[in-house]
Amino acid sequence: MSSAHIIFDQTADKVANRVNKMRTSAVRDLFAAASRSDIISLSGGMPDVSLLPPSAIKKAMKAAAEDDRAVALQYGSTDGRVETKRVFCDLMRDVGVRCKPEEVMITSGAQEALDLIAKAFIDPGDIILAEGPTYLGALQAFSAYEPDVRCIPFDREGMRMDLLEAELEKIGKGAAKFLYTIPNFQNPGGVTMSPARRQRLLELAEEYDFFVVEDDPYGRLRYDGGHVKPLKALNDQVVYLGTVSKVFAPGLRTGWVVAPKSFLSKLNLVKQGTDLCGSAFNQVVVEHYFTDTPWQKTLQKFVETYKTRRDAMLAALEKHFPPEATWTHPEGGFFVWVTLPEYVDTGSMLSVALEKGVTYTPGDGFFPGASAGQNCMRLAFCFEDPDNLEEAIRRLAAVIEDQLEL
Ligand code: PMP
Repeated sequence: MSSAHIIFDQTADKVANRVNKMRTSAVRDLFAAASRSDIISLSGGMPDVSLLPPSAIKKAMKAAAEDDRAVALQYGSTDGRVETKRVFCDLMRDVGVRCKPEEVMITSGAQEALDLIAKAFIDPGDIILAEGPTYLGALQAFSAYEPDVRCIPFDREGMRMDLLEAELEKIGKGAAKFLYTIPNFQNPGGVTMSPARRQRLLELAEEYDFFVVEDDPYGRLRYDGGHVKPLKALNDQVVYLGTVSKVFAPGLRTGWVVAPKSFLSKLNLVKQGTDLCGSAFNQVVVEHYFTDTPWQKTLQKFVETYKTRRDAMLAALEKHFPPEATWTHPEGGFFVWVTLPEYVDTGSMLSVALEKGVTYTPGDGFFPGASAGQNCMRLAFCFEDPDNLEEAIRRLAAVIEDQLEL
């Protein structure tokens, strides 16, 4: 019998328990719906790659396809090309972190770094600390290894250190393996951790013996206020995750980890089984982009464009949203986090919003096991132009008004 005749799924009852517990990402699922031309999408955190100058892309691609093709088309070392690592060391220096190529590992985006860290460091039941809400891709990466993720709420100054300390006192020294944080323009919260809290977090990490994973994809996309030093600049034990996804192109799937060498050796070990090595071709393209093209000018264009879009979304929220809604005011990044009255369920409201031609990301996906956030939503302002953003917020406000108990 050919496989085409098999009408039952032989694999259904053989799926690993941990996979049965995993949930699909609402954002990934929404990608299909968001491609409908009448829909304005506030759901995905997609950078506007149309702002990249074609000449710069061509130049970097040409170098990989011609001059450097012998290495670009070949397998490379698991931890990545040293030339690319040097480029990332330069980028780190700009944000106040000094590191050497031996302290850098190249990954397939920050997402792979999250998976490798989880693969190398999480045993089932291990306690991991994170902001609540937090990046749903991190929750997905971690959940495959079955941790117990404890969420610490944030306010305007980032993760609440008093609540973190209370949780640490409860679980005791050595009980948490690591703390995962997005200190700049958090995804999904949009908030930034203040310098004082960064300092306090590092003190607590030492006192309670856990390591800190600092995920910083948006750090260079600041629209107001001054640069805040990364945690990594304050303590070299911090594990820092960088990516070219928001400052260049997510399609190149290139990110990096800066960490002590002994930590990287564990990631190296598990990465070998994942993909042997990342794409050398993409690393060469990234190298050329950051050395031979006016990338700072392009970054400036990204910043100006996203700032205009952020301002347009905040103005539209102010104009159209009901007084029952509250939202964050990000100084950078891609996202605004909206909180509605407790009885509103943003998950079931999404189908109504889709009918009205707007999408967003429901809040519960940003909490482990969808344990909170049912009345919240993440709105991305990065991709649509200001007129569309205003129209999207107007449509969404009408959907919300219908849900309110007046
Ligand atoms: N961390 C955060 C906080 C993110 O928002 C994202 C992308 N949305 C990632 C990691 C993954 O990025 P990359 O494209 O580098 O895998």
